[in-house]
Amino acid sequence: MINDKAYALGTNRSCIRDLFEYGRARAAIVGPENVYDYSLGNPSIPAPDYVNQTIRDVLAEMDSLTVHGYTSSLGDMATRVAIAADLNHRYDAGVRPEDLFISCGAAPALCAVFSALAVPGAEILAIAPYFPEYKPFAESAGAIFKVVPPDVPGFQIDLAAVEAALTPHTQAIILNSPNNPSGVVYTEETLSSLGKLLLKKGEEYGHPIYIVADEPYRELTYGCTAPFIPKIYPHTIVCYSYSKSLSLPGERIGYVYVPQQAADSAALFAAVAGAARAAGHVCAPSLWQKVIARCTHLRPDLQSYDRNRRTLLDALTAMGYEMARPDGAFYLFIKAPGGDAAAFSEKAKERDLLIVPGDSFGCPGYFRICYCVSYEMIRKSLPIFAELIQNA
Ligand code: PLP
Repeated sequence: MINDKAYALGTNRSCIRDLFEYGRARAAIVGPENVYDYSLGNPSIPAPDYVNQTIRDVLAEMDSLTVHGYTSSLGDMATRVAIAADLNHRYDAGVRPEDLFISCGAAPALCAVFSALAVPGAEILAIAPYFPEYKPFAESAGAIFKVVPPDVPGFQIDLAAVEAALTPHTQAIILNSPNNPSGVVYTEETLSSLGKLLLKKGEEYGHPIYIVADEPYRELTYGCTAPFIPKIYPHTIVCYSYSKSLSLPGERIGYVYVPQQAADSAALFAAVAGAARAAGHVCAPSLWQKVIARCTHLRPDLQSYDRNRRTLLDALTAMGYEMARPDGAFYLFIKAPGGDAAAFSEKAKERDLLIVPGDSFGCPGYFRICYCVSYEMIRKSLPIFAELIQNA
């Protein structure tokens, strides 16, 4: 016999992956230069040279058993020390190395945090639009996943809607800023108003409501910075990843930060480590821990993303498309002309323009494009966007 839930997760593939596979199949038929694939958030700027040089340095300087051996399940202390020092340098945040758990990227970090918080009846809130994997992550952890309706059209956070969704069972609210899929960066003002509401409701319920800050795009901002949420709200757990900031999505490296000031922080940290253990975590990749320990100062060179962002924003706005201010990440979330994003995306697909309808992000009526693509592809696809809106 086979577990039904696991089977369903393995067979109901995400519409983003389906679209990406479709794009590959079409490319084999019509040529990759004739497919305009905006479906997948796979970084298109290479990892910094310094990262590759550091791999060589680590291999040259350290003995093989150390480089490739198991590390502590919590992570190498040298890596935790380096990450804490960098966070303190940037945010003056009082991070201690022992508050950091080195994970295999953000996805397993989120799963461990959700499991650590999944007491019986636990509810986890997400703000629409949200990263679709949150739902299977939260539900597999045993929590009830609830969605707070979007704050249209700016895609900040509708506090009245959050308040309406909160119950005594709310354990956490997951925030993702800079946001996938909207590209919006939550402002300091939005976050402090949310923090005040959560403190008030937490007091009323007699237990803290945690913010889980999912931050793989923290450094991907254009003309602004993403506020460091633990400085604004004490009960914040950060899940970070180097997948996007250093263009290393296949290497699987990131961390969980449980600040000392978060309620029950020591027990929470232990529960995160325990939940990761139960999911089969042994340690994050040893070589990558050593590399990251020497690369915490690196920041992405965002020039090509920014050029893509500005080109699309200017051209699409001039054509009549509407979208929220895309100050971060590498996504635009655009109002579908005619209102039906699924129908609009189908029409686009007929022209080999691959865009993702917003339904899977909890936000029908919009579609997402990932602009981590070549500039040439953007240039060639613009006439199709123009034709689609004219005929909508
Ligand atoms: N959270 C968000 C919002 C993402 O967009 C992604 C990946 O695209 C992840 C988490 C997972 O990132 P990782 O590669 O670190 O598991």
